[in-house]
Amino acid sequence: MDFNLNMIPEYLRNGQWIEDAYGFYDTVCAICDNGGHLIVCEGKCSRSFHAIVEDGVMCDSLGYSADQIVALWSQPFLCPNCQFKRHQCFGCGKLGSSDKSSGAAEVFQCACRACNYFYHPHCAAKWLYFRIGDQAKELEKEIAAGKPFICPLHACFACKRLETKLSEDPQMHFAVCRRCPKAYHRKCLPRDIVFEVNDNRGVTPRAWEGLLHNQILIYCLEHGMDDVLGTPIRNHLRFPH
Ligand SMILES: [Zn+2]
Ligand SMILES: [Zn+2]
Ligand SMILES: [Zn+2]
Ligand SMILES: [Zn+2]
Ligand SMILES: [Zn+2]
Ligand SMILES: [Zn+2]
Repeated sequence: MDFNLNMIPEYLRNGQWIEDAYGFYDTVCAICDNGGHLIVCEGKCSRSFHAIVEDGVMCDSLGYSADQIVALWSQPFLCPNCQFKRHQCFGCGKLGSSDKSSGAAEVFQCACRACNYFYHPHCAAKWLYFRIGDQAKELEKEIAAGKPFICPLHACFACKRLETKLSEDPQMHFAVCRRCPKAYHRKCLPRDIVFEVNDNRGVTPRAWEGLLHNQILIYCLEHGMDDVLGTPIRNHLRFPH
């Protein structure tokens, strides 16, 4: 399957790597990238969060108090980004309006149902340039005009091929960076991105299985790792106020 701007494969649109039973929520906290007791945003972002400090391990959490949390669980939760319809671009990290009804939307969400990231048209096109070359300009215009698009996380940064249908072959599973739109097939991962094993011999792990549904969670080599946190420094989220 080649990358075709005018056709988004059905399996990607449907979020094929998640079995329906799970729903399409993130399985790890947007702040610390770990699992546990999470509150899920019912808005467009579908992210999950540790709501109180006690629910995470070394996670700042959303910082709610035990009293606030009772009220919070009693109604559908909307994260601040979804409340104000201002989401971060996963390409550049800046906040932009995602409010299509205003006609002034600045960031647009990937059309893949299981992928919750937003992008400026320019940033999505720039990150896809490695894959589509000069078509990037055209793509930028189309995204800005509201046309559905799939984001750079669905093309392998090494072999440039599109993410395939969920494969029995573990080598074809997709490893996705939690800090930027870079993804690889497992077989295409750079050697320095090592998995967590019992003895990492002083090498900081950057890849984990079992945290995301049928995908491998990675931090690509662009991000320095914090030895204490075991993740890059957590300055990646912006909330509107
Ligand atoms: Zn957390
Ligand atoms: Zn949200
Ligand atoms: Zn951007
Ligand atoms: Zn996507
Ligand atoms: Zn590949
Ligand atoms: Zn990255």
